[in-house]
Amino acid sequence: MSKLRFDVVQDAFKKKAVNVELPSAKISDFFGELVFTRDKMRRYLDADSFRKITDCIDNGAPLDRPTADKVAEGMKIWAMEHGATHITHWFQPLTEGTAEKHDSLMDYDGKGGMIESFDGRSLVQQEPDASSFPNGGIRATFEARGYTAWDPTSPVFIQNDTLCIPTVFIAYTGEALDYKTPLKKALKAVSDAAVPVCQLFDKKVKKVYSYLGWEQEYFLVDEDLYAARPDLMLTGRTLMGHASSKNQQLDDHYFGAIPSRVAAFMRDIEIAGYKLGIPLKTRHNEVAPNQFELAPIYGEANLANDQNQMIMNVMNSIARKHGFVVLFHEKPFDGINGSGKHNNWSIGTDTGTMLLAPGKDANSNLQFVTFFVNVLAAVQKYNSVLKASIASATNAHRLGANEAPPAIISAFLGKTMTDVLRKLLTVPSDTPIEIAGKKGHSLGLVEIPELFIDNTDRNRTSPFAFTGNRFEFRAVGSSANCAGALTTLSAAVADQLLDFKAAVDKEMAAGKERNIAIMDTLKPIIASIIDVVCFDGNGYSEAWQKEAKRRGLDTETNVPKMFKAFTEEKTVGMFTRLGVFSEKELEARNEVRWETYSKKVQIEARATGRMATNHIFPAAVAYQSRLLKNIDLLRQDFPNDWEALAGTQVRMVKEISRLVADLTVKIDAMVAARKKANAIADEYEKALAYHEIAESLFAIRKSIDKLEEICDNDLWPLPKYREILFIN
Ligand code: ADP
Ligand code: MG
Repeated sequence: MSKLRFDVVQDAFKKKAVNVELPSAKISDFFGELVFTRDKMRRYLDADSFRKITDCIDNGAPLDRPTADKVAEGMKIWAMEHGATHITHWFQPLTEGTAEKHDSLMDYDGKGGMIESFDGRSLVQQEPDASSFPNGGIRATFEARGYTAWDPTSPVFIQNDTLCIPTVFIAYTGEALDYKTPLKKALKAVSDAAVPVCQLFDKKVKKVYSYLGWEQEYFLVDEDLYAARPDLMLTGRTLMGHASSKNQQLDDHYFGAIPSRVAAFMRDIEIAGYKLGIPLKTRHNEVAPNQFELAPIYGEANLANDQNQMIMNVMNSIARKHGFVVLFHEKPFDGINGSGKHNNWSIGTDTGTMLLAPGKDANSNLQFVTFFVNVLAAVQKYNSVLKASIASATNAHRLGANEAPPAIISAFLGKTMTDVLRKLLTVPSDTPIEIAGKKGHSLGLVEIPELFIDNTDRNRTSPFAFTGNRFEFRAVGSSANCAGALTTLSAAVADQLLDFKAAVDKEMAAGKERNIAIMDTLKPIIASIIDVVCFDGNGYSEAWQKEAKRRGLDTETNVPKMFKAFTEEKTVGMFTRLGVFSEKELEARNEVRWETYSKKVQIEARATGRMATNHIFPAAVAYQSRLLKNIDLLRQDFPNDWEALAGTQVRMVKEISRLVADLTVKIDAMVAARKKANAIADEYEKALAYHEIAESLFAIRKSIDKLEEICDNDLWPLPKYREILFIN
């Protein structure tokens, strides 16, 4: 096996970049080629069907069956022109990634032959046998029916030979079983709550859109090295591995030259992404060795999230063509940076106003400050559940580690906005908020500098940072479905906006002029958040953990406990008021969260135990035998002074015995703890027990990593960090 490791490393090192050519000279020529866009609808549908389907997409108008049939027919013709032979309802269950069940387009033609067929019924709704998707007990197996229903706001697309129809996934009893359904409800809740607030400023506003720009971080690992690491294959992360002598301390990877094999991979995903209409914009090396990032131009949140799920699939499959495996795990390697998925989030009106960016005049600035403050208030009020929305067994390894957002949700404002808010507390309520630079600096006024967006400070330690025209929710994990975080954030904001509007209405009913009513409502909110959720300091510091606790922010670090926030009275009230989740759904989803948590830790614990027994122990004792053989030879050849000559060897032999014994004790304890945990029926209690097991894995790996450090390199069976992280 040691020979194998050596060969694998050599082979991996010698791999060359795959040649990838752009399909045509200009990206715009093939952008969206595999998406049934509005433009294609216009070409493939008759005028009446086109009008009806756009009304359905834009305004949620119901789709009648004859129109659905015509739309399906148009899609079928277009899809077949692109070589599609199958269709699938593509959905986002509560597992990682997406699910699809392919049906061929073939059917009997009734005349003894075959024909390609696809009708409105199969476009709009299907009933996948869904009993084996996580559902938290909503569906007992005897009523194992769920259905998928087309989400017409996400365009259908082609992947390989299959026409993919984005759908929601719902139990027959009505509960959502996926990520998309609640996201769509939450996005609508934001719009419904924000429009009346916008109308305080501009009566023409009819709809508010949410925008998402995700930044996907990931690692690339050579597939041969990956295949020699059972832990990577089974859990997506290394459960053991001594730190490489060199890792990221020279800061020479971030924004460094992209290695040629990786560059070819990136080019390939970009081509595939462009064909799928994903506006990929940025690619670069990240901080850790073999860590990279990919980001598109932001877009409407539901579509942008679909696109993130699509590109993750594409990355997985294209990586193999280049001899890589993509790691989306939040913390694949100990001791170096983990991966996140920053969710850049903003809201804007159908009249083109971005609500989280300063405007051109005092009126639009008051609107900006109104939304800005309400977002912060929402983040403060719901900081526990926001944290729960990004928590997972895998992200737990990243949260609170020194390079990632801490397990405390606070918001970074930057000096400018902090000053603006503090100033607002001291001036009369009718003071206009001006853009500075226009009329020169004027004392007594509240001002936002003109070149504000480009000048916002950067703070990398905050989980939720204002960056000039948006908030960046950085705590989201790289493997997560963004919808989890976005649904909670959107619902929290919607809830806060409803309260705010009611308060302003009251002030106005009491005879106050609009601006004064708004500012009088905002002031107490500002006063209540500015020294609580707003924090511009170092989020990694120990002092902050104490300070955050003093401020009343949630500082819980135990993931199963964090999930409890979803079923707190306050949260249930918020979600049910908005119609985003019912109490039953919240409870069911927590069952799924705890169950998933326990299973993930269980797999890690098993893999650790087996690798310790099958890989580590044999390597350690083999080396020990070599040493003993050497000691034996020394004794034979130097009967008088062998003891002095074999001093180091004897010490090593003893050290190996000590470490191996220590490892065995820890593994035995872990196995016993697992047996106990498995007997617990209650999912929450079980997850708590597995949390302890997860903690115990740190100590186990310590012993293993120590053995790796002292054992013969030749006998070590697992590819080492220095190999996995530096070959590309
Ligand atoms: P960073 O400096 O954090 O790496 P980038 O400039 O790479 O940031 O942008 C990150 C993401 O933010 C991109 O996807 C970009 O399109 C997105 N973004 C920019 N403006 C907005 C906005 N108003 N709303 C949502 N996302 C936005
Ligand atoms: Mg960013």
